[in-house]
Amino acid sequence: MTKEIKETGWNFDNSYARLPKSFFTSLNPTPVRSPKLIILNDSLAASLGLNAEALQSEDGAAVLAGNRIPEGALPLAQAYAGHQFGHFTMLGDGRALLLGEQMTPLDKRFDIQLKGSGRTPYSRGGDGRAALGPMLREYIISEAMHALGIPSTRSLAVVTTGESVIRETALPGAILTRVAASHLRVGTFQYAAKWGTVEELRILADYTLKRHFPDVEADESRYLSLLQEVIKRQAVLIAKWQLVGFIHGVMNTDNMTISGETIDYGPCAFMDEYDPATVFSSIDIHGRYAYGNQPNIGGWNLAKFAESLLPLLHADQEEAVQLAQDAISEFPELYHHNWLAGMRAKLGIFNEEKQDESLIEDLLSMMQKHRADYTNTFRALTFDRHEDTVLFGTPEFAQWHELWQERLGRQEQSKASSSQLMRNSNPAVIPRNHRVEAALEAAVKQGDYSVMERLLDVLSTPYGHSPEQAEYATLPAPSTRPYRTYCGT
Ligand code: AMP
Ligand code: MG
Repeated sequence: MTKEIKETGWNFDNSYARLPKSFFTSLNPTPVRSPKLIILNDSLAASLGLNAEALQSEDGAAVLAGNRIPEGALPLAQAYAGHQFGHFTMLGDGRALLLGEQMTPLDKRFDIQLKGSGRTPYSRGGDGRAALGPMLREYIISEAMHALGIPSTRSLAVVTTGESVIRETALPGAILTRVAASHLRVGTFQYAAKWGTVEELRILADYTLKRHFPDVEADESRYLSLLQEVIKRQAVLIAKWQLVGFIHGVMNTDNMTISGETIDYGPCAFMDEYDPATVFSSIDIHGRYAYGNQPNIGGWNLAKFAESLLPLLHADQEEAVQLAQDAISEFPELYHHNWLAGMRAKLGIFNEEKQDESLIEDLLSMMQKHRADYTNTFRALTFDRHEDTVLFGTPEFAQWHELWQERLGRQEQSKASSSQLMRNSNPAVIPRNHRVEAALEAAVKQGDYSVMERLLDVLSTPYGHSPEQAEYATLPAPSTRPYRTYCGT
């Protein structure tokens, strides 16, 4: 082990590797030709207890490329299954490896995963690799989500490999270092339930409780608590997605975490014009994962999670099913509660009135009718700047605005606190599709990373509402719509 690697601050534990062997396959990344560090997340590195300078060294980049295994790491590919567009199948890390769990200076545990690190026994027909564009895209959007206050996996670094990956054309290859509370997925439980023993399923559930839900670990009915806690976290998460107009695009059960973090930034994108039917992903022809359907799909996925837990919920199968159904039936209301609270905040409302819901629904339906931009409408309301949009020119909006102002007048809080609440709840910027595309194009085609760096900078304080952010709020030209995304392989 070289001195440089020790100085990087790697401090691995490998609790996942201590699970039964059926949960993973140990193997090393496939080395790449010539690793080059493209981008490093300095502040994330620091919070993980890693030395950014050491990561930038040749040895550091070699680790981030999978060419060198740091001391204490035990690389492995995780096994999992999942429902993809409703169809159950065996999956697993086909192009990613967990190096280990970094123990931070604050004694927190984070998975360090290399994505694009080569073939594994779970690769099926895939090459195990990733292209630079999609990895940078994941970096940008995951970091933007984090800055927006939305639980998400993080991105520590992207390295290019010096090798090409063949997609429709030859593209520069890259590896993303993903950081996550864990990579436990609904699909991990489905895998255990389908192919493991009940004992293995129990071990996985106990592991999960210990890692993510220590507060309920000692509960008598701890597996039911596990289900209820995951339901709660997903209700919070999906409400946050809806509130910023984030469309995940591929909410398969393998892409839903147990920790409640957003994971797997493939065909995701932010909505421009408000329309619940919005779909960006080219393969989502039936709109299964449309914006307005995300809460339903969340419930569907959680039902699959509940199903996989049945043998642990009760010895009597009927009783187990009843417990699962009762828990699942809570989800729509929990989701709605979170969404409504968030919407009130977006409109500067502190207290609760029964009619709030119709006030919100009325605004949304006007926005849909007049094809108003989701983010910019709330931003304009925040600053009382009713820019020249169709919506703001209509009599129905004027009427709504009056009702809204009356509503704000019926709470104790001042207009100033209301407006502060709105500034904190309505982002000045989101990763607009055309901006993300421009950043990727400059990076991948010209090797110019400055566009991406500026974008990342602006996205790092979405509630800052600074003058520099104004230009990032401009809408895409009509010619760039409709925007299409592809599964980022
Ligand atoms: P995703 O659509 O990214 O959630 O991936 C679904 C499954 O396909 C996972 O098991 C991935 O590991 C696998 N996969 C995606 N891309 C590749 C690739 N290029 N090579 C091997 N496996 C892949
Ligand atoms: Mg996935």
